[in-house]
Amino acid sequence: MRGQPGQLAEHGEAALERTDGAIDRWGHRTETHHKLHYERSFTPRTSGDPRFIGSGRRDLSMRTTVGIIGAGPAGLLLARLLHRAGVDCVVLESRDRAYVEQRQRAGILEQGTVDVLRECGAAERLDREGLPHQGIELRFEGRGHRVDFPSATGGKSVTVYAQTEIVKDLVRLQLADPGGPPLLFGAEAVAIEKPDSGAPVIRFRREGREETLSCDFVAGCDGFHGIARRAVPADRIRTFERTYPYSWLGVLADVPPSCEELIYARHRRGFALHSMRSPQVSRLYLQVPNDTDPADWSDEQIWDELSARFALDGGDAAWRLERGPITATSVTPMRSFVQEPMRHGRLFLAGDAAHIVPPTGAKGLNLAVGDVVTLARALAQHHTTGSTELLDGYSATCLARVWQAERFSYFMTDTLHRRPEQTPFEDRLQIAQLDRIATSRTASAELAENYVGLPLS
Ligand SMILES: Cc1cc2nc3c(=O)[nH]c(=O)nc-3n(C[C@H](O)[C@H](O)[C@H](O)COP(=O)(O)OP(=O)(O)OC[C@H]3O[C@@H](n4cnc5c(N)ncnc54)[C@H](O)[C@@H]3O)c2cc1C
Repeated sequence: MRGQPGQLAEHGEAALERTDGAIDRWGHRTETHHKLHYERSFTPRTSGDPRFIGSGRRDLSMRTTVGIIGAGPAGLLLARLLHRAGVDCVVLESRDRAYVEQRQRAGILEQGTVDVLRECGAAERLDREGLPHQGIELRFEGRGHRVDFPSATGGKSVTVYAQTEIVKDLVRLQLADPGGPPLLFGAEAVAIEKPDSGAPVIRFRREGREETLSCDFVAGCDGFHGIARRAVPADRIRTFERTYPYSWLGVLADVPPSCEELIYARHRRGFALHSMRSPQVSRLYLQVPNDTDPADWSDEQIWDELSARFALDGGDAAWRLERGPITATSVTPMRSFVQEPMRHGRLFLAGDAAHIVPPTGAKGLNLAVGDVVTLARALAQHHTTGSTELLDGYSATCLARVWQAERFSYFMTDTLHRRPEQTPFEDRLQIAQLDRIATSRTASAELAENYVGLPLS
């Protein structure tokens, strides 16, 4: 039976008092007392908006230092880092809590992502339930080849821990702290006014009313379909994009994983990935044509196709894919996208709002974490010293890392998937590339280094 569980709760605005002081390497502060200048005022709207004139309705307005749009991993982690650095912020999220906590997406955390979550006190459950992985298997031409991470990277590895769980952990921490930054669910940002002025304003809708959030800075963490990147005038940006002629059919199944580490399979029928969310739950993906309707695939067809693409020479005796109840399916198109620069005046873009990678390299969530660590550091520096040095370097610092992840994600995608019009020559090139990784320490190390994540500068 396929379905999605969920339940909700909402957090009202809270404000108020917490401790600040010295800054650690992630921009966290500790010690002295500091007041949050978060206010809620009720004033008649006389701005000329015809929806409000004479309607007797009242306008709600708030003020904070950093207005964060989006409570995905980027927005929530940024709020946590800023709170610890003593910088006021408010998070606006258009969906409800249940929705953001159940949205199935990433699951592979780079070493640097795990380190950041630990350092900001958000890794208690991750350390208990996360599954450390020391390598991956590349499967092609009926053979499996393991890429070992620690030996190629000086001891680094990755951790399997679902994005849904990170979001739950960060939401719980934020709501549990009475002095924590307000987190408003059901608050949809509809416009960012004057992002290039000294006093940007976010207009948002909540419970049928229009409200405003005045800020010193706006963090656009609202994903690829949000409003933040569109708030930058077209003549101030460059965009770079690549679409792919295939998608992923994602499957969540209540069955223990059939492997200890992820399997990336290149097969003449198309790509397949065996991943997991826990020792009881498997996450699997199949390359499918664009515009595939998941309803067109029966559970049996999905398992048959997965079995065919993961098959090893020697059949069942060599390896067997365990089957179980499929609880959710989805189709994800593949896209590479970058918008430059990642800053416009006092608006800073972070995560999927600024860049998208196809999920083959497992980089999207990790890039979002890299962006907000860089942004939190820069905002903390400005807060304590008034310097704009790190803020001025934000876009260039992030883009250097973003383009490395774009390159790696493109490489993994292009090497492992079959395009509909792919020629036999290109088939041979893909196999030669994979053979090279399987037989050369240098080629294997190059993959390992990128997979575990390049350092956060
Ligand atoms: C199938 C799949 C598998 C993936 N696997 C991996 C993986 O293994 N490893 C990895 O690193 N990455 C992976 N990714 C990518 C990863 O999930 C994303 O990169 C990540 O979610 C980006 O986080 P974000 O916070 O920037 O954006 P999002 O998670 O998209 O969050 C944006 C938030 O903003 C909210 N929002 C949007 N518009 C508004 C508005 N107007 N007002 C208020 N709120 C708004 C949204 O509701 C959302 O909650 C995968 C993605 C997919 C789809």
